[in-house]
Amino acid sequence: MKTLKLGENTFKLAWSIIKDLKASEYIGVLKCIQCGMCTSVCPAARHTDLDPRVISKRVLDNDENLISDDLIWNCFYCYSCHSVCPVNNSVCEINQILRQKAIKKGNGIPEIAPFSNYAENFLEFGLGSIPINFFDELVQDIGEDWLQLKVDLEDIRAELGLAPLTLPEEDVQDINKILEKTGFKNRLGKIKRVKG
Ligand code: SF4
Ligand code: SF4
Repeated sequence: MKTLKLGENTFKLAWSIIKDLKASEYIGVLKCIQCGMCTSVCPAARHTDLDPRVISKRVLDNDENLISDDLIWNCFYCYSCHSVCPVNNSVCEINQILRQKAIKKGNGIPEIAPFSNYAENFLEFGLGSIPINFFDELVQDIGEDWLQLKVDLEDIRAELGLAPLTLPEEDVQDINKILEKTGFKNRLGKIKRVKG
């Protein structure tokens, strides 16, 4: 009878995901039973070659090529896989961590560049908000009322006795300092240079 020998690097990729700050405390990466529930509910699997069950298997197989595989960019973080997994695994979180690894290696810039304006908004307003370049598409999807609500929002809030959504300039400056110290600005600059 053969004995399965596990070296310290056998689950290196899996452990690097489990130990990542982004991973839930009880993520069941090593418990995956390959049941395929995740794939059965994954909208991206219906329309692309992404297969969450296979992603999980490749992590357990310590397949480092996954980090540079374009497949990981087809996930859109809907958390459906996360919510149905019987062993608390989350391919959604796995994908997020794999993408961070990819970005650190200099991959994935074309995939994240279209969203760089979200990051710009943090710098400009100190808050996350929908970038203006998405407005046309949102109006097409939701209708003109959505845009009108945005235009009127501060007045509506004032009528309701609520504070403005915008932050005072000094707070925005403080947030900018934090974004600079943490490397956010630097990383955004790199993305924009590649984006051109
Ligand atoms: S649902 Fe969970 S246990 Fe089943 S294949 Fe997907 S990750 Fe593995
Ligand atoms: S989070 Fe990603 S992998 Fe999971 S079901 Fe949604 S699209 Fe699929």
